Amino acid sequence: MSKRIGITTTVPHEIIVAAGCTPVDLNNLFLAEFDRARLLDLAEAEGFPPGVCAWIKGIYAAVRTGAVDAVVTVLSGDCSNTRALAEVLRHRGVETIPFTFPSAPEAPAVAAALADFAERLGVTLAAAEEVRRGWAPLRARLVELDRLAWDEGRITSRELHTWLVSASDFEGDADAFGRRLDEFLREARERPPAKFRLRAALLGVPPIFDDLFETLEQRGARVVFTETPRQFAMPYRCADLVEQFCRYTYPYDLRHRLADLRAEFPRRRVHGAINYVQSFCHRQIEDIVLRETLPAPVLALEGDRPGPLGGQALTRLEAFLEMLR
Ligand code: SF4
Repeated sequence: MSKRIGITTTVPHEIIVAAGCTPVDLNNLFLAEFDRARLLDLAEAEGFPPGVCAWIKGIYAAVRTGAVDAVVTVLSGDCSNTRALAEVLRHRGVETIPFTFPSAPEAPAVAAALADFAERLGVTLAAAEEVRRGWAPLRARLVELDRLAWDEGRITSRELHTWLVSASDFEGDADAFGRRLDEFLREARERPPAKFRLRAALLGVPPIFDDLFETLEQRGARVVFTETPRQFAMPYRCADLVEQFCRYTYPYDLRHRLADLRAEFPRRRVHGAINYVQSFCHRQIEDIVLRETLPAPVLALEGDRPGPLGGQALTRLEAFLEMLR
């Protein structure tokens, strides 16, 4: 069995696969877990304070259940908590592999970060490039899935989110993922286009709520743009891994995200955006800039623990949709 490498956010998993290892997105693993409350309790029982983001605790607990053999800890460009998480994991005897996004998407700095990561995994960048080229048709099919959602209305909000968010690790087996995706696309193309009164964008980190997508659709709003999962899918034709990770907007400062959002909102005819913010997350502060600069109304919707939308969040969401109508 190949070594399972846990990831806490999207990293160049082409390098992990080229090294003969299997990437495992710990966020997706946590969310798919039947008893997520148990995992959060486990993290808190081992010392994580209640006032720490649930994703961090879920990731930690998923590692503690023995789901992976090592963890890539992204020390810059993702989460301000990762450095401390890495310390605790090492203290618990877990192997950690650091990866650092540069502060700006400049080719020499990105190339150096990729080369460092490849060296740590004992593989060449040329081998990772071969994996990248092999995955290019798969990424193109995810772009097609995205188009079927926003342009033709044939993909539900949840399906769009779930397929794109899974691109962070291709569920550990890109070939099997590709076959399932082909089957899904064949079926989706035959569907009649759905009509929704409101076209919504979902910004920010992936939401922890179980029922956000269904709640939106029941109230006449379809998600036609999921910012971060789409970024995980790396929906660009690129010459190499360096360009791919220069165009990836998530790790860098807001200017790069804003340029992407300003281009995509009019193209997808977005009426309004929900900026999902996680309790105790530093990224909540970015909402100020998003609200004041985007060309559509933005609702900051906060979640804490996994589960359905709470009463207050639901009331705010309904009022926002009513305002958009
Ligand atoms: S939601 Fe924020 S605090 Fe939590 S893991 Fe993600 S970036 Fe870190």
